[in-house]
Amino acid sequence: MAKPTSTHPTGPAPSRWVWRLGSVAGIPIRVHFTLLLLLIWIAWLELQQAGAQGLAPEGDPVAWLLFLGGRVLFIVGIFACVLFHEIGHALVARGFAIRTTEIMLYPFGGVARLHGMGRPTQELWISLAGPSVNIVIGLLLFAVLQATGLWAPIDRLARGEATVLQNLALANFILAGFNLIPAFPMDGGRVLRALLARRFGMLRGTSIAATIGQAFAIGLGLLGLFWGNFILIFIAFFVFVSASQEVGMQRSRVMMRGQHVRDAMIRRFESLSGHDSLGRAAEFLLATHQQDFPVVEAGKVIGVLTRPALVRGLTERGPSAPVSAAAAEAYLALEPGEPLQDAVEQLQAEKQKVGLVFDGAQLVGMLTEENVREFFQLHAIDSGHG
Ligand SMILES: [Zn+2]
Repeated sequence: MAKPTSTHPTGPAPSRWVWRLGSVAGIPIRVHFTLLLLLIWIAWLELQQAGAQGLAPEGDPVAWLLFLGGRVLFIVGIFACVLFHEIGHALVARGFAIRTTEIMLYPFGGVARLHGMGRPTQELWISLAGPSVNIVIGLLLFAVLQATGLWAPIDRLARGEATVLQNLALANFILAGFNLIPAFPMDGGRVLRALLARRFGMLRGTSIAATIGQAFAIGLGLLGLFWGNFILIFIAFFVFVSASQEVGMQRSRVMMRGQHVRDAMIRRFESLSGHDSLGRAAEFLLATHQQDFPVVEAGKVIGVLTRPALVRGLTERGPSAPVSAAAAEAYLALEPGEPLQDAVEQLQAEKQKVGLVFDGAQLVGMLTEENVREFFQLHAIDSGHG
């Protein structure tokens, strides 16, 4: 899966649930801790199932360890192939000078976060790159197994007697096939959109691709209901929602084209001092419509106090505690001339409520997703009046 977003050079705020595995070609590889839980859970299920089917070696501890090792190796191998898939997206994107800010591995798959999305032809090749990697890995493994005579007949696969490599080869073909399903958020959905966009333009191409994806999701959901398969129903729901999200994203991209941070930023706002009390901050919150406050000391911004941080600070420390104790030191810094689209994507990618706009060293504005939305509502009314 390749996902276009954009982040600040510092990257998203580190979360304790996300671990960094390393980096490939300067792209950080991160993994969500739930992936480890999934690995443990699958290993447990596999073992139980194997025990029930009498596949597991009995009594012999060494044979047991080898058996368990093989199972774990297989699952780790699958995620390695998912990682190669994402690296495939990232490297082709780099060929088009599109930066990848990170590759994240989740239990349900991987995501390569790209900075922007490029033209339709570029999106086509970037999207095809991931599944192609899996097809190549699958073919290579198949060739190795053929050459060494280790390819077990298909009927033995069904009984779970295939080797780790053979299972991995098959898993790669399944990964490629699944990702080429022509619906968002799968790569196939992006391939379809890119092909349609060359003819109908980006917005119309996206909306046709989304409709096709939703029709597919409805079919999948009906199958799930018919078979009583809840996982299928869940995937169908996910695919359906992704389609409308993609259309919404595309619309806002079109609206934001040519707009800059300075066009939409809030210019009149209150700042707090680090020594101000939280009680005073609460008064500000009530007296103005402002939700987030820059915290300034000696003319320098030292952090941001968001509404949730203020509420938390009030309950944990009381109204007399200083603002500096509750404010977050990390904040997103923007420039007035930055494209609005980039700024909003940075807010989303870094999960920040507010961005502070600096002209040189001077704080000149604030940008929130909400005020961007309001800006476009007014903008739409404006253009309606000609
Ligand atoms: Zn992909």
